[in-house]
Amino acid sequence: MANLKSAHQFREPTRFDPYRETRKPAGLASCKDCGAVCLRGRWISEAEYQRHFEMKVQVQSRITCPACLKLKFHYAQGVVELIGNEWLKSRAAVLNTLRRTERIFRGRNDQSRILWFGEDAETRNHPAKFKVYVTQPELARHLGRELHKSFKGTTHISRSREEPFVRVRWDAEGPTRRIGRGHLSRAFRKRGA
Ligand SMILES: [Zn+2]
Repeated sequence: MANLKSAHQFREPTRFDPYRETRKPAGLASCKDCGAVCLRGRWISEAEYQRHFEMKVQVQSRITCPACLKLKFHYAQGVVELIGNEWLKSRAAVLNTLRRTERIFRGRNDQSRILWFGEDAETRNHPAKFKVYVTQPELARHLGRELHKSFKGTTHISRSREEPFVRVRWDAEGPTRRIGRGHLSRAFRKRGA
């Protein structure tokens, strides 16, 4: 795990998750950042562990879970872009939908998380964008689906050809504005928030 940062910088364009731990840690491990517990290779939340085993976690080693590593090294595997300003009219409800969907998804898999938010200001050629970066492509798709279900609008999903990364663009304005198509640009894949 010590070489994660360099592995990230020089990673091959393959379809794998470089932050997934392939070696199982010795004994019961927990994440020193979020408290998640690694149970036979699967990460579960501390609360789930306590509920299930009806006891506190007896930690034998402290490591960093893949989701927290992704946050640390700014490595997302999906982004949901909220296009334009129309959605701001229902800002609280939209953010609530995102958080609620994350909570449900995370209840099934503790590694499914929203990592960080970003923003692109409006320019002459492009509308403003509010960006939600996530740990997994599936979560990005799911968030997009829930936004569409709750608030309609237009959704477009594009997937990187080279790595497991999904970009979902959602425009609350609906079909009146055409959302650009096409594959992810190189600059985008750098994921600068
Ligand atoms: Zn963690």
